[in-house]
Formats: sequence, C-alpha cells, structure tokens
Amino acid sequence: MKIAVLGSLNMDLVAHVHHLPQPGETIISSRFQTIPGGKGANQAVAAARLGAKVRMIGKVGGDSYGEQLLEGLAEAGIDTEGIEREGTTGMALINVSDQGENQIVLVPGANNEVTVAYTAHHHDILTDCDVLLVQLEIPLDTVAYAVQTAHRLGKRIILNPAPAQPLPEEMLRCIDTLTPNETELELLTGMPVKTLPEIEAAAQKLLAKGPGRVIVTLGEKGALLARTDGTLHIPACQVAAIDTTAAGDAFTAAFAVAQSRGMADEEAIRFASKAAAIVVTRHGAQPSLPTLEEVEAFA
Ligand code: ATP
Repeated sequence: MKIAVLGSLNMDLVAHVHHLPQPGETIISSRFQTIPGGKGANQAVAAARLGAKVRMIGKVGGDSYGEQLLEGLAEAGIDTEGIEREGTTGMALINVSDQGENQIVLVPGANNEVTVAYTAHHHDILTDCDVLLVQLEIPLDTVAYAVQTAHRLGKRIILNPAPAQPLPEEMLRCIDTLTPNETELELLTGMPVKTLPEIEAAAQKLLAKGPGRVIVTLGEKGALLARTDGTLHIPACQVAAIDTTAAGDAFTAAFAVAQSRGMADEEAIRFASKAAAIVVTRHGAQPSLPTLEEVEAFA
C-alpha cells in the first residue's frame, strides 16, 4: 500500500503559561517545547508508523526547523524527495494554559509555496500511489489540482478538510472519503451540528455533494459514518485524555491505512479510533503517533 501525502509541515512552538495573555499583556512561560507538527507531516508520520509506504509532497524552509522536520520524516521511513526547501519553515505558535485552553497562530511560511506548478513537478508521486491523503493547510488551488489529477489517474482520495474552509463542488465529487470534525461539517453545510441527529442530517447533506463517504470525527464522542445506505455512529475508545493534538490526523491516516489493508469501513473506523485514542493519552503531535504494534495491542 503506497500513500502519497500532500500537505503542510510545521514546527509547533509550544509555550506553557499560567493563563492565556490578554491583548497588550506580557506573561512569562513556565515551559517551552518545539514539537514537529503540521497536518500533512502528522498524517504522513501516522501512516508510516502504521506500516504504509509513504511519499510526501510539501515544503520546509532553509532553516534548522526545516532540517529537523525532514530528519523526523526520514526517521519514520518516509520518502522526502518531494519536499524541497524555500524561505521560512511553517510554524504554529501555541500557548497552552494550566487549564488546558490554547491559542494558536499559524505561520504558513514555506507551506504557502506548495503551488500547483510545484505539485505538477512532483507528478510521479501522484502517479505512483494507491491513495492520496490531503488536508487544507496548503493553497486550496493546489489541493484542487492534486485531487483532480489523482482522480483522473483512478486513485483513492481521502480529504481531511481542516482547517475549515469552503470547498469547490467539483472537488467534492472526486473525493472517496471526507473526514470533517464538527466545526468543519458546520462550515461545509451551513447546518447546525449540536445533536447527533443534527450531525447525521448535516453529514447526509455533505454526502449528497458527491464524496463516497463522510466520516465526522466527534472527539470523545467517537465518529459518525455517513454513506448513501445510511449512517452509523461508532463510539470512541475509553481513555484518560491528556492532549488531543493530532487526534484527527491520526484518525484520518489510520483510516487510510486500514482501508488499504482491505478493512471494510466499520472495521477501519474502529482501527482509526484506537490509533486516535492512543494519541490523546500522549503529549504533542508527531511524538504521540502510535506504531502498528501499539494499535494492535490496544484492547
Ligand atoms: P485535532 O484537531 O485535535 O487533531 P479533530 O477535531 O480533527 O482533532 P476530533 O474529532 O477531536 O478531531 O478527534 C478525532 C478522533 O480522535 C475521534 O473521532 C476519536 O476517535 C478520537 N478522540 C478524540 N478525543 C478523544 C477522547 N477524549 N477519548 C478517546 N478518543 C478520542
């Protein structure tokens, strides 16, 4: 199973603070960490740790963060030939309070330079894969180009529509699996998503726009699968969550791997739920992603 991941690579700069600063306020952090992240890189590492052969298309900067991100991907066994270096590495500036609230400023940096022409230049990665896994932290026209190209090539396409933004209808028709969370579902449909029946109705509305299936991730409430033959709610695994960073990324990548290994939708979602549950019991983005052995050993 070969998975091509097109997407972002970021260094997460995490400052732990007593409380989140008000406008104009200066506060002192109690602890600081740099943690490899970015939705594209998280999903690439997640899929590779679960045993997939992964090639990634993206960009990092010429700085030391870029170097560290590339090293992390190579360590996970990812083919990084499609990752060139330009400008500043993308960053997420994250403040986390003692109460667990956060504030995040995304600095796109080199991720904004992942253009249509750049992706076309790495066309062989799209040709070579079985599955294309893509998110929305790079320019939308690049995502649209890659989705249409992969669709023409007969590839299976999984889109994690995060961060939330409106999507062209013709793109939705090329998608096999769309994995929004509740906020993204609300934005994509304009419908309320407070209760499970509301979420089911919104997911069916999104499904009517053309994707093969919609899987709504519901945090600790699990996931909802919507297909033309009906909807199915699959509860989350019971764990003591300490940090949900990258839970959605692990879920989408694990679903892609499970599907490539021949699992049917429900079984693939249960596998993805286990991978995501392990992630929420650990700190950080990429360091928290489990291996295949860990997911298989999870009760
Ligand atoms: P993030 O942006 O933090 O990566 P997300 O909003 O994209 O997350 P969520 O819906 O929060 O995604 O979570 C994805 C999946 O992770 C859920 O469908 C669920 O399987 C798992 N998960 C999340 N939170 C918990 C939790 N507290 N306990 C168990 N599983 C969880």
